[in-house]
Amino acid sequence: MASIEIIPGINVVRGKFAGEFGFIACYLVIDEGEALVIDPGTAGDPGDRIEKTMKKFGLNPKSDLIGILCTHGHPDHAGGAGRLKKSTSAPIMIHSNDAELLRNPQSFFAKRLIMDRATRLSMKLDKGPLRINYRGLEPDVLLSDGQKIRVGTKTLDVILTGGHSGGHCVLYEGSQKILFSGDEINNFPNDPRKFYVDLSGSMVSKLAAINRLSKFDIEHLLPSHDVPYLFGEAHLQFESVRDGIVHLQDTILSHLGARGDADIEQLVFDIKQSRSVPIPESYDALLATTIQVVLEGLEEAGLVRHLGKGIWDKL
Ligand SMILES: [Zn+2]
Repeated sequence: MASIEIIPGINVVRGKFAGEFGFIACYLVIDEGEALVIDPGTAGDPGDRIEKTMKKFGLNPKSDLIGILCTHGHPDHAGGAGRLKKSTSAPIMIHSNDAELLRNPQSFFAKRLIMDRATRLSMKLDKGPLRINYRGLEPDVLLSDGQKIRVGTKTLDVILTGGHSGGHCVLYEGSQKILFSGDEINNFPNDPRKFYVDLSGSMVSKLAAINRLSKFDIEHLLPSHDVPYLFGEAHLQFESVRDGIVHLQDTILSHLGARGDADIEQLVFDIKQSRSVPIPESYDALLATTIQVVLEGLEEAGLVRHLGKGIWDKL
């Protein structure tokens, strides 16, 4: 099946099942002969199924696609943008804080994740969705908070959340009460992936964004991984992300307290040991990076201190 129309005019074009990353979900918003792609996926997945879906609805991908919008610049969301632009000539849209990831995809490894050479090598060779096998390119439209994007008669509001990555945006469509939540609010129950962030991200921004979004009237929550929540309690998902962050902060504080002081590697070890659900090794870099960002937030709050050379202690 190439795609499913989950709500009138809203189609999910699903990629392959990407193991720990669930299904990669690309959304195609169609109205009055126009279409917008939200998160084109990796360089190959869902690939040309996006254009096939447009054709199924009688649209011409070369003239009717008004934009290729990336909620953020990670390879599993923006990796497919170049290929799709080549085949449709539609403009690529991304927030300026994540534009560097589009211009220079390797900066994802170099600037956004904590990883040693071995992890880097294994991730590069990995066939997973974070693989970078596409060229950099210049974005056509830089998104900003409060911007409105019109697709036929639908209007999508761009909201900068900046938690998962510094330039992460979500989109709200008021007439159908839909939130396209990208990676800011994900559908992975009881899993730390709900709040993995990169080095440009911020737990403070993530919590602030969740508070802001909690006030929206949302019936459908459409994340870019795994399955959407339809007619569900979107607010329960917000709660669950918030609880997850608070729990991780508490866990880090308690491990730091028990050790006296610790570096990130020791905290990754402690957290992996203490979880009842095993965290796959392929997440080591994501977990270390997320812990670093949590520590920076706790430092701002005056709860921990960086002693230098990557060693932290609790105040
Ligand atoms: Zn991401």
